[in-house]
Order: sequence, then structure tokens, then C-alpha cells
Amino acid sequence: MARAKKAEADKAGVKQKAVCSLCGKPVDPAYKPFCSKRCADLDLNRWLNGAYVIAGDSSDEEGDEPLAEREPPRDDF
Ligand SMILES: [Zn+2]
Repeated sequence: MARAKKAEADKAGVKQKAVCSLCGKPVDPAYKPFCSKRCADLDLNRWLNGAYVIAGDSSDEEGDEPLAEREPPRDDF
């Protein structure tokens, strides 16, 4: 059963290897959890863009009131 043992060891090795979530290259401890400064910057930019869009959306909601849909209450009774 030496073959099974070797496969197990390989599995453990693969599991411990961390890879960059952007490009899949091995992670550099200096830029964890990314492989390089480039990927770290890319992810940061993506995050900042997302935050900016969300902030714009919330401020836009303030002045967006559907006045046309509001009908005056009728009391015919
Ligand atoms: Zn990368």
C-alpha cells in the first residue's frame, strides 16, 4: 500500500499550497494573499471601485422618490 500513502502525501502538499486568487500563481509571503504587488493593487482597485459605486448608489437613492406613483388618498365614504 505504498502507492496510497504517496497519494495522501501529495494531497496534503497541494492543500497547503496557497495560490493567488487573481492569477493562480504561488503566493508570495510579502504580498499575502497575493503573488505580487501587482495583483494586490488590482484587488485593492477592484474593492475601491466597488465601494465607490455603492456609495454613489446610496446617495442617489435620497433624491429618487417616485412622486408619480403617489396618489392622494380618496375618502368618498
Ligand atoms: Zn497573482
